[in-house]
Amino acid sequence: MFNYIIVGAGLAGAVMAERIANILDEKVLVIERRNHIGGNCYDEIDKTGIIIHKYGPHIFHTNYKEVFKYLSQFTEWKEYQHHVLGFIDGKLVPLPFNLNTLHKLLPEALAKTLEKKLLQKYDYGKKIPILQLLKEEDDQDLKFLANYIYEKVFLNYTKKQWNLKPEEIDEKVTGRVPILFSRDDRYFQDRYQAVPQEGYTKMIQKILDHENIKIMLNTSHQEILKIKNDKILFMNKEYKGKNIHGKNRRTIQLPIWQITIPLTKLQIRKTRPKMVPARCDNKLSKRL
Ligand SMILES: Cc1cc2nc3c(=O)[nH]c(=O)nc-3n(C[C@H](O)[C@H](O)[C@H](O)COP(=O)(O)OP(=O)(O)OC[C@H]3O[C@@H](n4cnc5c(N)ncnc54)[C@H](O)[C@@H]3O)c2cc1C
Repeated sequence: MFNYIIVGAGLAGAVMAERIANILDEKVLVIERRNHIGGNCYDEIDKTGIIIHKYGPHIFHTNYKEVFKYLSQFTEWKEYQHHVLGFIDGKLVPLPFNLNTLHKLLPEALAKTLEKKLLQKYDYGKKIPILQLLKEEDDQDLKFLANYIYEKVFLNYTKKQWNLKPEEIDEKVTGRVPILFSRDDRYFQDRYQAVPQEGYTKMIQKILDHENIKIMLNTSHQEILKIKNDKILFMNKEYKGKNIHGKNRRTIQLPIWQITIPLTKLQIRKTRPKMVPARCDNKLSKRL
């Protein structure tokens, strides 16, 4: 019998299953309603041999050495730094908006003045959400810049994406693409950035590859977990173990256990031999 049932075989569910299987040495069942593991990180090789990220491109990025080391037990990496170009006023410019974007879009004299003012006020490398810049800025030149970025970058994007104005959506969403006061054109500034050498699905397969872990695909939790008279039924029999959700907590009307995995424990692995450490004979391994 399973001591733990995890709903969702995405990255979160897989890591929790692995921790429970290895650290607690307990049996885990992972239920997944899709026909594959990996959640939104799922990727597969297409006819031409290219790895395709089925649900949209995913780039692994973290500042936590522990997280990078933990995942490196299950994959080797391809170092990858994501750069995004936006098409604004007929020019391809780096996004998120940074000092290079400023110089590419505005006349040089104006760009220089604005850069000087920005760096007098904000530390080099600081990031700030557009709505905050709009609200807080009282200098007229910087106010002009904030309005300019709002219109050219955010307004059209949120309109196209959600048919909403930036101020109509959660500030956290617009804050995910902040204004960056530096010349760093990368999309993420995290210390560790990469994609798994053989893809996310292979990496997650290895995370889940443990004798204590069983996976049930094509199964929504509603099909096998029910509540009757305040009891949880697993396949119509009373279940006394713990339920953990990988995702979509609101849709799961069951008592749910949340487990916290301290970062410092991510490296501890009891039963499994250590896999080959990440072979990144590039900048990535030097940072370790
Ligand atoms: C287009 C796109 C691009 C992204 N790019 C990045 C990126 O570059 N870098 C980054 O760090 N993050 C990115 N993300 C976020 C990333 O997808 C998530 O951080 C990560 O996949 C979350 O993993 P998860 O396990 O929490 O959820 P998910 O990957 O969503 O997995 C949850 C799983 O639970 C299953 N499930 C849900 N409800 C039930 C149920 N009732 N019964 C059974 N199974 C159920 C789902 O089918 C799914 O497989 C991106 C997201 C998207 C959509």
